[in-house]
Amino acid sequence: PVVTRFAPSPTGFLHIGGGRTALFNWLYARKHGGRMLLRIEDTDRARSTAEAIDAILDGLKWLGISWDDDVVYQFSRVARHREIAEQLLAEGKAYRCYATSEELSEMREKARAEGRAKLYDGRWRDRDASEAPPDVKPTIRLKAPLTGETVIEDQVQGRIVWQNENLDDLVLLRGDGTPTYMLAVVVDDHDMGVTHIIRGDDHLINAARQKQIYDTLGWALPTMAHIPLIHGPDGSKLSKRHGALGVDAYRAMGYLPAALRNYLVRLGWSHGDQEIFSTQEMIDAFDLPAIGRSAARFDFAKLENLNGHYIRHCDDVALMTLFENALDFVPGGADLKPKLNDVTRAQLLRAMPGLKERAKTLIELIEGARFIFADRPLPIEAKAAALLTPETRALIDRLRTALESVTSWNAETTEAAMRTFAEQNNLKLGAVAQPLRIALTGRTTSPGIFDVLAALGKETCLARLGDQGS
Ligand code: GLU
Repeated sequence: PVVTRFAPSPTGFLHIGGGRTALFNWLYARKHGGRMLLRIEDTDRARSTAEAIDAILDGLKWLGISWDDDVVYQFSRVARHREIAEQLLAEGKAYRCYATSEELSEMREKARAEGRAKLYDGRWRDRDASEAPPDVKPTIRLKAPLTGETVIEDQVQGRIVWQNENLDDLVLLRGDGTPTYMLAVVVDDHDMGVTHIIRGDDHLINAARQKQIYDTLGWALPTMAHIPLIHGPDGSKLSKRHGALGVDAYRAMGYLPAALRNYLVRLGWSHGDQEIFSTQEMIDAFDLPAIGRSAARFDFAKLENLNGHYIRHCDDVALMTLFENALDFVPGGADLKPKLNDVTRAQLLRAMPGLKERAKTLIELIEGARFIFADRPLPIEAKAAALLTPETRALIDRLRTALESVTSWNAETTEAAMRTFAEQNNLKLGAVAQPLRIALTGRTTSPGIFDVLAALGKETCLARLGDQGS
């Protein structure tokens, strides 16, 4: 059975690229009826924080990416990592290296000067521990093969070959007894039964080193898939301005988790020219060889359009929930929260079909709905206020009277009443609609005016018209 894993280091938020990596692992596991595990790689004690762990877990949950089994914290497995290093040492497959940091920097400089890839010259590989200097805490290094090749058949990158003569005897355990990332990852992936490693191609060079550890231990290498990183729209490294943000920032920008998921799955992976995928469609269609080899480019406009699509096609009740949740994290949401009650919820639900046609993000949706939550008297935008002349106010009085007699209040009945009113007064419908819109929403633009009338309900409409009349 397929077992994938997402293995973030909790040194910052859940980066958008990390979100995509998690998504790919999740999709692959779900497609094959397998499991996706979550491992928090918190061995860097100085840089790992509890806030970052929370941000990662929250970000995944918000994106709708669930993991199986308990979260594995890498630091808790240090004893096991050490045990494997000691085992390799006992078997003569690793050795203690007593080189001092001065020696190591000398070696590095020499290698650089001579243009050699290998930085460590192997001086402790076959030396007896009795020669060890007394005050140096040794590292444990892998006795890596000196000749031959290290080969990986990567599902995305294809066959990659490294010449062993260019690969150092890598450090497994540091002088202070802490495991290196290379050792910890291999031991954990093995012990967790991971069958597929899907991660960013910035880890490709690590894959060669990890392969050497697998080989030395006689363990089977999981299938590897190194996915190209996400780049900016101009092809350069993704900058903050171009989207290198945490998943929480996307949430705060009013993107729907389903839309972001759909955007991310298409970032580097394709399935014909299909753009829109339901979660089940993604799971069914996802596959590793269909991931492209070149860096995907992040495109905010595309994400926004996709988000607009998701909002328009979202069921109104589901959108209500997204709307309410979003009040907690989008700017300007918090002040609307106390105004949610049975009356405003009912008004919002009635207004939703009109509102969702005009919003690309939840921020826009919330802004569009702001008129519902307005206190009396309704604040009027400057542009709209300029149109509230004495004549308009007088017209608003008469519109109010005409609407007062509407008995069964909905978009059709109010429209009929307004048409009759316009005809009787020799006015165009637009000349009636605009004062109504201003009095009811405080703005010159809104969803269709009869939808606004229906959404607010008779009582609120008559009250607002009364406030703006002469
Ligand atoms: N912890 C590593 C990172 O966050 C990932 C390790 C891996 O996927 O093998 O970059």
